[in-house]
Amino acid sequence: MTFAIHGLAVSRGIAIGRAVVVASSRMEVVHYFIRPDQVESEIQRARSARNAVIDELRRLQEEMPKDAPGELDALLDVHLLLLQDSALAEAIRNWISERLYNAEWALTTQLEIISRQFDEMDDEYLRERKADLEQVVERILRHMKGAAGPITPPASAPALVGGSAQQVPPEGAAETPLVLVAQDLSPADMLQFKSKVFAGFITAVGGKTSHTAIVARSMDIPAVVGARAASQLIRQDDWVIIDGNEGVVIVDPTPIILEEYSYRQRQGELERERLARLRYTPALTMDGQKVELLANIEQPTDGPAAVRAGAVGVGLFRTEFLFMGRSGNLPGEEEQYRAYREAIDGMQGMPVTIRTLDVGADKPLDKAQPKDYYLNPALGLRAIRWSLADPAMFRTQLRAILRAAAHGQIKLLFPMLAHRSEIEQTLAQLRQAQQELDARGMVYGTVKLGAMIEIPAAALTVRSFLKYFDFLSIGTNDLIQYTLAIDRADEAVAHLYDPMHPAVLRLVAEVIAAANAMGKEVCVCGEMAGDLSMTRLLLGLGLRSFSMHPAQILAVKQEVLRADTGRLQSWAHAVMDSDSPAEMLGI
Ligand code: PEP
Ligand code: MG
Repeated sequence: MTFAIHGLAVSRGIAIGRAVVVASSRMEVVHYFIRPDQVESEIQRARSARNAVIDELRRLQEEMPKDAPGELDALLDVHLLLLQDSALAEAIRNWISERLYNAEWALTTQLEIISRQFDEMDDEYLRERKADLEQVVERILRHMKGAAGPITPPASAPALVGGSAQQVPPEGAAETPLVLVAQDLSPADMLQFKSKVFAGFITAVGGKTSHTAIVARSMDIPAVVGARAASQLIRQDDWVIIDGNEGVVIVDPTPIILEEYSYRQRQGELERERLARLRYTPALTMDGQKVELLANIEQPTDGPAAVRAGAVGVGLFRTEFLFMGRSGNLPGEEEQYRAYREAIDGMQGMPVTIRTLDVGADKPLDKAQPKDYYLNPALGLRAIRWSLADPAMFRTQLRAILRAAAHGQIKLLFPMLAHRSEIEQTLAQLRQAQQELDARGMVYGTVKLGAMIEIPAAALTVRSFLKYFDFLSIGTNDLIQYTLAIDRADEAVAHLYDPMHPAVLRLVAEVIAAANAMGKEVCVCGEMAGDLSMTRLLLGLGLRSFSMHPAQILAVKQEVLRADTGRLQSWAHAVMDSDSPAEMLGI
C-alpha cells in the first residue's frame, strides 16, 4: 500500500531505493559494510556464535536441576529449534553475501522481518514466540560481542562511493540503491556512512540545522528528517522515494509515482550538470563585486572535493568530527597536526579556516554520553566553554593548528564566544600554546584570528569583538537557535526556526555592517549562506564571503552572477526593516 510521510526537507534531491531500517529493534548494534572477500569469514562468525549459543543451551538443559519446572525445559527446546532453523541461517547468509552487511546487522535485519511475520499471526501462542526469537538473537549478539570484542567498522571498510548524489551499492552487492531509515542518527553515525552506499537518509527526529542534517547536506545526499514514526512505519526492504526538496517520503510507490519521481531525479541531475559549467567562472556580481564562496568541511579529506565543487577556500572546518566516537581516546597533537596539514594540502594553497572544537549539545563526544546528560545541553558546556574547561586539551589542539600553519594559510576560528573574559582566556591559551612550542623549539606559523558570532550577546557587542579579532564568522544556525529560543535539533519546534525572523536579520545585518565599517572580514558560515533564497538579501546587506556545503556553491554562484549589489542594497534594508521579510522575499 502506497503512503506518504512528511518531514523536513534538509538535503535536496530525489532518492529511490530499498529501505534499510536500522536500530529500530531494542538491540543496538553497529552497522557497517564488509568487503566482498570478507563474506565467508563473516558468515562463519555468525555461524560460530550461533553454535556457541546452541552448546550453551544444551549445557543448561543437561545441568538443569531435577525439580526445575517442566516448562523451562520446553522453552529451551523452543529456543534450540529456533536456533537450528535452516531458514533463519539461510536468510542471514543472504544479507551478508548479497548486501555485504556485517553479521550483527544481518541478524537484526532478519529478526525484524520475522518479528513482523509473528505479529501478523492469528494464533496468540505463536505470536508470543516472537519474544523467544528476540531472546535467541540477543544471545547470539552477546556472544559475538564477547567473542569478537567491541564491534567497530574495519579501518579498511570499503570506500564505496564518491561524494556525488549518484550512489552505487558496494562492489559485489546486489545493484539496488539503499536508503537508510533510522529513529535518529548521530553525526558520528552519519560520518560512518559517509562515502558508503546510501542513496538517501530518513530519520524520525531532527531539525533542519541539526548536525545530522548538516552532515547529510555535506554528503549531498537527499535526506528528510523529523519524519515521525518513519522507522516504525517503513519496513525492512520496502521501496521508498525520498523527496529531499519537499520533505516527503513515499513508501511502496505505485509504478506511475515511481515513473514521475525517476523523471524528477533525472531533471535534478541535468541541473547539476548545467551548474557544473560555472565551476571556473569567477564569482562576480553584475556590478563587478567580488564574492568569496568557501566550503564547510567536516573531515581533513574533504578538501579536494571542495576544490572540485568550486570553493576558493575553506570557511569552516568543523574539527569536532575528528574527536567524536573515539570512546574518550582523543586525538593527540601529532594526529591532529597531520589532519590539519592534510586539510591544507587538499586545498592547494587556498586559505583554510579551522574552528576549534565545538562539541556538546547535539554533538556528543561519545554515543555513550546520554542526550540529556546536561539539563539543557544547548545552553550548557559546549564549544569554547568546553575547551576552556579543559585547557590542556584545548592547547593540544592550538599547538597542532599553529604547527600546521607553517605549511599554508590558516585562519583560526573560535566558536560560541560571548563574554570578554572568554575572549581574554582564549587568547591567553593561544599565547601559552605558542610559548610551549617555542620551549620545544618547534616551527609554527602565523594565523589570522576570528570569532564566531552565534550568540545574540556577541552580535549585540560585536564592536568589542572587532577589537580583538581579525575576522568574524556568523554562525547563523546557532544565532537563530539562541535568538528565537528554538532547539535546532528539535523537530517539534522546527516550524518556529525562522532564518527570516526580523530579529535574526537585524543581528546579521548589524554584524556585517560593523565589520565592513572597520574594514574587517566577515563571513556567514551557517546554513543561511547556502540558502539560495537568502543570497540576494545577504549581498544587499553587504556580505561578500559565504561558506557552505560544497554541494551548494555553484547554485549560490549562479545567484551571485545574476545580482546587482547596487540595486539590492536599499531593497535589502527594506526587507530587514519590514514586519514580514519572508513575504517580501516571496517565500
Ligand atoms: C552555526 O552555528 O551556524 C555554525 C556554522 O556552527 P555549527 O553548525 O557547527 O554549530
Ligand atoms: Mg554553531
